[in-house]
Amino acid sequence: MNEDTAAMTAAQELAGRLGPNLVVMSGPAYQDTRRLWNGAVTSRPAFVVRARTQDDVQAALDTARRHDLPLSVRAGGHDWAGRSLRHNGLVIDLTGMRQVTVDAETRVAAVGGGATATDVIAVSAPHGLSAVTGTVGSVGMAGLTLGGGYGPLSGRFGLAVDNLLSADLVLADGRSITVDEDHEPELFWAIRGGGGNFGVLTSMRVRLHAVDRLLAGLIVYPWAQAAKVLDQLSQILIAAPDELTVQTVILTGPGGAPALFVVPAWSGDPAAGEAHVEELQRLGTPALTQVGPMTYGDLLHLNDAQGEVTGRHYAARTRTVSRLTADVVAAFVEAGDTVTTPLSGVPIHHFHGAAARVPVESTAFGIRQDHLMAEIVAVWEPGDGTPHRTWADSVADALAPDALPGGYPNMLGPRDHAQIAGAYGPNAARLLAAKARFDPDGVFSATPLPPTAAN
Ligand SMILES: Cc1cc2nc3c(=O)[nH]c(=O)nc-3n(C[C@H](O)[C@H](O)[C@H](O)COP(=O)(O)OP(=O)(O)OC[C@H]3O[C@@H](n4cnc5c(N)ncnc54)[C@H](O)[C@@H]3O)c2cc1C
Repeated sequence: MNEDTAAMTAAQELAGRLGPNLVVMSGPAYQDTRRLWNGAVTSRPAFVVRARTQDDVQAALDTARRHDLPLSVRAGGHDWAGRSLRHNGLVIDLTGMRQVTVDAETRVAAVGGGATATDVIAVSAPHGLSAVTGTVGSVGMAGLTLGGGYGPLSGRFGLAVDNLLSADLVLADGRSITVDEDHEPELFWAIRGGGGNFGVLTSMRVRLHAVDRLLAGLIVYPWAQAAKVLDQLSQILIAAPDELTVQTVILTGPGGAPALFVVPAWSGDPAAGEAHVEELQRLGTPALTQVGPMTYGDLLHLNDAQGEVTGRHYAARTRTVSRLTADVVAAFVEAGDTVTTPLSGVPIHHFHGAAARVPVESTAFGIRQDHLMAEIVAVWEPGDGTPHRTWADSVADALAPDALPGGYPNMLGPRDHAQIAGAYGPNAARLLAAKARFDPDGVFSATPLPPTAAN
């Protein structure tokens, strides 16, 4: 039996179990699953299972294993490398599992495996509560959380993964299991930073926080001031209180030239935040300032508006630096000077405070010292991406001498071998042992893991 026939047989068998609407090999539903944030991804899965329940996920996994089909999990569709679509494989699409419920008394949300940050905030905000999410609303909460999850509340409450209380998983052997600190603690440790390498997360419980409104927004500096602003920002980021997390973004500004966006999010007492925000406005002469009280949902929306366009072509590199040294500032200025399209950019995430106080060995996430994580994102309209990829590579290369080993697994591409080897820091051996124990046949391939002696 060739690959196509095996997939066809598997799809028919599964359609008999789940119903033909949930198992699709073509048509609009199939194309919806294939439509990722990164339009450059061309993989064509053999078929898609549009799961609605944990039973659907178990049935899909069982079929993939019996027919020896490669498997992937698709949720928010924002992995830039397109790992959610396995070419000629079976895709478990969780976008029908976006339900979120909130227990306002215990401040816990139950979040479906396909829910986005916007889904979670929409249900928690009416209770005056927020989850720790990333900066963009349409990113999948599970994918973000399992890989780490940098966001506007990270300084105060840690990464998204530090707020994961438990997870319902379907494992490679088909078992469904709930993991937390007391139940399969080693697996719970591994999924907190080890990404989707251990199972399909169908639901998770996440801690919520009493954050209703933030003092947040944008301060946009003209590019000519970038070096001076970044230089002065360095000390502010180092000394920032937990309540202040500042994202800095090199992006095309309102006038069409590169600009430096300083994006503060103050989650503490608003009166105490004013002085911090004003300090950020005095780093130069802003071309635009749009800072004020806003809901968490408004902040996500504001970020969504800054270049979050599904279907363009993207390539990304990442570097993690401990601070904005003179050489790092020079590399970022060079990035803006040489950018090849007005769509490309470099968001720089601020990791400090509560996120940095979590002991590195307590979760699989590998870098817990204060740092800045740069996403170097080349963006172009469909066409030849070579010059734009080259730009991203050159920015990554320029930052390399000052970078910490490794990098953020959610942003590493499959070919970033040296960085992958260091991405989990002191946790690499333990993570690989967990992979060998819970997924010995490598059913799940997700964020890259370091090489083993066997591979
Ligand atoms: C525009 C944009 C903004 C971003 N902003 C941030 C940010 O602010 N902070 C940050 O930390 N990261 C950020 N990221 C990175 C993002 O967290 C990762 O790309 C994440 O994997 C996206 O998850 P997804 O569900 O949207 O993607 P998908 O492509 O659907 O999934 C990616 C992979 O995650 C795994 N996965 C997803 N859901 C599940 C599940 N339920 N069970 C098991 N495995 C699962 C699978 O391995 C899957 O292949 C951003 C990415 C983009 C494109």
